[in-house]
Amino acid sequence: MLIDRRNLLKVAGAAAGTLAMPAVLRAQTRPQIVIVGGGVAGATCALQLARSHPGAFYITLVEEDTLYTTCFFSNLYLGGLRDFESLRHSYSGLLDYDINVINERALLADRDNKVVTLISRTRLEYDRLVLAPGIDLNYEAVPGYTPRDARLMPHAWKAGRQTQLLKQQLDYVKDGSTILILAPPNPYRCPPGPYERASMMARTLKATGRGNAKIVILDAKEKFSKQALFMEGWESRYPGMIEWLPPSIHGGIRMLHPDRLEVETDLDTFKGALVNVIPPQHAGVTAYEWNLVDEASGWCPVDPMTMRSKLDESVFILGDAAIAGDMPKSAFSANSHAKIAARAIASDLLGTPSVVPRYFNTCWSSIDENDAVKVGALYEATPETITTRSSFISQLGESAEVRKAAFEESEAWYRAIVADMLGSADI
Ligand SMILES: Cc1cc2nc3c(=O)[nH]c(=O)nc-3n(C[C@H](O)[C@H](O)[C@H](O)COP(=O)(O)OP(=O)(O)OC[C@H]3O[C@@H](n4cnc5c(N)ncnc54)[C@H](O)[C@@H]3O)c2cc1C
Repeated sequence: MLIDRRNLLKVAGAAAGTLAMPAVLRAQTRPQIVIVGGGVAGATCALQLARSHPGAFYITLVEEDTLYTTCFFSNLYLGGLRDFESLRHSYSGLLDYDINVINERALLADRDNKVVTLISRTRLEYDRLVLAPGIDLNYEAVPGYTPRDARLMPHAWKAGRQTQLLKQQLDYVKDGSTILILAPPNPYRCPPGPYERASMMARTLKATGRGNAKIVILDAKEKFSKQALFMEGWESRYPGMIEWLPPSIHGGIRMLHPDRLEVETDLDTFKGALVNVIPPQHAGVTAYEWNLVDEASGWCPVDPMTMRSKLDESVFILGDAAIAGDMPKSAFSANSHAKIAARAIASDLLGTPSVVPRYFNTCWSSIDENDAVKVGALYEATPETITTRSSFISQLGESAEVRKAAFEESEAWYRAIVADMLGSADI
């Protein structure tokens, strides 16, 4: 991806312009929408509102990073099917839609007075607040693992430097050695992700003459998404390279020793040449700090019909952070939430008709180049929850043509979802 220098400066200028003001008070007659978190959910919501109702809202997107690095397709980077730069995208395309992009961390929300305060102390008033902070990792749930240890045992479950670190470590693994992947309990971001990751790591090892290396998945679950399809793919593409151990076999993770790259379980102590630890997850910490989380589950309760927070009617919570019934935590789901929320916000503020919500998801997983499987569903909402209305999944034993078509579909989806969130042809 090429970053357009002119647009980058426009982004920087827009942010600096906002920062130069002592406070952003109600200078606008248009309804003000503040969106915190410029991932799939937040950016898509911003763009959807701007495209559907040009000029109707004053939209501010607050995102701490200047470039968005997609978690989705980061496994393909590990598999040698993409370069890192192809995962990174600029927010500059949003400026063409009159969206005010501020690259800063949002610190505080005064929900009584409807004001968000940024790290620079800039204050943003809102009529509606959209919070889409993604996930954070629950390090304490993995004995012996701390944020500092992520340098030795990367998680790479939030994309960026961690993703590059995992790839560097993969490139140093010697033939005949063992890679350990610790897969998390449900619910977590991208249910098939750890198993696609194992496939893509095996692909790289095999393609670089290290076919005697082994990947052991120490899972926190007794079963996983698209299990039969992955196992069939591993058997045919990477025989003997990937071993999956559920807790009924390894007995549970007792202790990690990051300095020795060891994982103690009830069954045995495993030593890895590389250890990829994917901890349990909860809603992004901003949702905790702003008291929008259900503490028991660790996720944000929302009205399934609109994605409106159950704890504040002026706030919408989208993407991985939300409790969305049967829907998996995925970029596809986040995009679907954003579109429903955008309609509900327009209905609130402009009086446009409300809609009966329909949500969608499809998750493609690559097992090899031109070999992908998929699972997906259509969901309907009731005031209580979001439930699966119909679903589909790839079949065992499909032809190479069908799998190639699924792989090509996934690439088309990547381009489409990035364009849907960033409005840019820069992909
Ligand atoms: C390895 C892997 C593979 C995946 N593959 C797929 C796939 O193939 N298909 C699929 O559909 N999904 C996939 N996913 C899942 C997908 O990446 C997530 O579900 C999706 O990113 C969720 O979007 P989000 O907007 O909720 O969160 P995010 O994309 O994480 O965005 C949240 C944003 O909020 C920002 N933020 C948080 N707090 C603040 C704050 N206080 N102030 C300012 N900014 C803030 C963060 O910087 C971040 O940019 C994959 C995930 C992983 C880890």
